[in-house]
Amino acid sequence: MNAPVPPPTACGGIDLHQEHGQRAVFCGLTGIVWLHRKIQDAFFLVVGSRTCAHLIQSAAGVMIFAEPRFATAIIDERDLAGIADANEELDRVVTRLIERRPDIKLLFLVGSCPSEVIKLDLSRAAQRLSGRLNPVRVLNYSGSGIETTFTQGEDACLAALVPDLPKAPAEAAPSLLVVGALADVVEDQFLRIFAAMGIADVRFLPARRAGAMPAVGRGTRYLLAQPFLADTARALEERGARRLAAPFPLGAEGTTGWLRAAAEAFGVSDEAFEAATAPGRARAETALAPLRDELGGKRVFFFPDSQLEVPLARFLARELGAELVEVGTPYLHRAHLAAEIERLPAGTRVTEGQSLDDQMDRCRAARPDLTVCGLGLANPLEAEGLSTKWSIELLFTPVQGYEQAGDLAELFARPLRRRALLEV
Ligand code: SF4
Repeated sequence: MNAPVPPPTACGGIDLHQEHGQRAVFCGLTGIVWLHRKIQDAFFLVVGSRTCAHLIQSAAGVMIFAEPRFATAIIDERDLAGIADANEELDRVVTRLIERRPDIKLLFLVGSCPSEVIKLDLSRAAQRLSGRLNPVRVLNYSGSGIETTFTQGEDACLAALVPDLPKAPAEAAPSLLVVGALADVVEDQFLRIFAAMGIADVRFLPARRAGAMPAVGRGTRYLLAQPFLADTARALEERGARRLAAPFPLGAEGTTGWLRAAAEAFGVSDEAFEAATAPGRARAETALAPLRDELGGKRVFFFPDSQLEVPLARFLARELGAELVEVGTPYLHRAHLAAEIERLPAGTRVTEGQSLDDQMDRCRAARPDLTVCGLGLANPLEAEGLSTKWSIELLFTPVQGYEQAGDLAELFARPLRRRALLEV
């Protein structure tokens, strides 16, 4: 039975509801699918069950690598007396892997939910193995479905990296750190815009290589590129870094607000900001214009899944004229999302948490034109005649920045076109 629903609470001008109950979200292991492509000399070893191996393999799609950069060490059922064996086995698997693969410079031991894995102390295992396998760094984090939804796997991974980052010298000039995995092409575009504004010292977390991770210290000013990085942000603040409050770089408006936060922190003049951003804004506007006809007035319902829902809803409503029926999010970080919440149309229904049955009922009753949801819900909803967009695609596709604004809108327009064709 679901817990009683708390009354709506005030939060900016939105109509905020909180729900507790059954959830339908992938676990944090899913993040490995995009993280292993980002950090090119890292390896992700899931310590888990056959289910975990199956999930990660199917989430990664049919990818045949000569030298894959993720795997699952399957820990079968064993009692407490078998834990010493499990540790020995893990050490043996890791040592053999590193001997065979000298290209691996950073190894993540990724925990999961089976009770046999929970009994293992992966943080001690990581310390032990780091000492033994030096210079290969071994870190650990949890991707368990009990603790994480799918984008929180990235948060846990980046938070594990933070204590290991080099220390920036105390007297160093302020530097800019962009936090959250972005496609390389998007990073390069942002670097060019920052350079045009005169901000030269810009680093990214995660870096593309283990040996190039950014230094962090009291002069670090960071911009979150993703809205699901609460633990990473906390870990960075503990090291003296300061967050620049901004919307997220989705769509032209979000990208401009995000870049402006950096411009203000680094004393960039209005003229320099305008010159650096106007061409990108104009290209984004040209790309978005034809999509406004398709998405304008369309009623959109978000199930809580990726934590990208609020910035995406803001983009769809303000730049494309879509109508927001409900914006579900697994967790609403009030501070990190403040600039997004204030841009949502007044009265937007935002639901934090999930009670799956209740939400399905509301979605069915509303019959939205487009439902953004996880893979597990998409098929049943499509079978009921609703158009769906898989939220996981928004993580696998480069969507941030001016040049991707049109592609982002396309992702939402495509299911509508497909449905229109089916209905002819
Ligand atoms: S970590 Fe848990 S939820 Fe994720 S695949 Fe493994 S058993 Fe399933």
